[in-house]
Amino acid sequence: MVIEIAENAGFCYGVMRAIEIADRALEKHKKIYSFGPIIHNPQVVEEYEKRGLKVVESIDEIKGPVLIRSHGVSPQMYSKLKEKGYEIIDATCPFVKEAQRYAKQLYDEGYKVIIFGDKDHPEVKAHKGFTDYTAVVINSEEEANNIKATRVGVVCQTTQSVERFGRVIGCLSKRIRELKVFNTICDATEKRQKAAKELASRSDLMIVIGGKNSANTRKLYEICRETAKKAYHIETEKEIKPDWFKGVKRVGITAGASTPSYLIHRIYNYIKSLS
Ligand code: SF4
Repeated sequence: MVIEIAENAGFCYGVMRAIEIADRALEKHKKIYSFGPIIHNPQVVEEYEKRGLKVVESIDEIKGPVLIRSHGVSPQMYSKLKEKGYEIIDATCPFVKEAQRYAKQLYDEGYKVIIFGDKDHPEVKAHKGFTDYTAVVINSEEEANNIKATRVGVVCQTTQSVERFGRVIGCLSKRIRELKVFNTICDATEKRQKAAKELASRSDLMIVIGGKNSANTRKLYEICRETAKKAYHIETEKEIKPDWFKGVKRVGITAGASTPSYLIHRIYNYIKSLS
């Protein structure tokens, strides 16, 4: 059985940066708070909790320095955190910040702002704040066809698929008189998706590693499922069933932006041991 790891699998620049910022903050403060998990990977979150990074769901639970994760926060939330009076450690990914700036710019220029993405994703919720919560979030061509406005400005959740974004923009461009689009899909996502698709096209089975709650991992899984004969989304090797590999000659592995390389290699070695 040939096992191959896709290029650009695993931690992206923004996640790596957030982890490094968290490491430095933990050295300095011993206990810090994160509003929501630092990254969408339960294993990494657990490890960091043991080291003193407490994940909270409500602002009232924050009792010390607070880390803003790579997804960023809305300006309204930032002000509330500031009011608490604790140090703010901002690990928002610079590419997410760029999308936030564009959302604000479109709003200030009077466009009806559309965010292409998942309405429940923290990054998208934060983007909405930059438009004073007037932006409409869409996630399909059907929803794009329901937009009624003459001046529309679009930004995109950084981890969305390029193809789907293109199709939605195609729909909007047929109906909207003035359309301004900022392609805010980040390079890391595009490169990871391309490499996964390429590997899936020459694999019998794809293993996609990453948190089940990670949007970018779920998207990678979608791409792999459409391209390879079989694909599975797992968080750890414990979910792997040896049956999956019966008659399989080529296995491809890819991983979402929140997956550490040690986990990818551990899973690679586990699959190798099965063959
Ligand atoms: S996927 Fe891109 S935008 Fe998101 S954190 Fe990583 S580098 Fe930043």
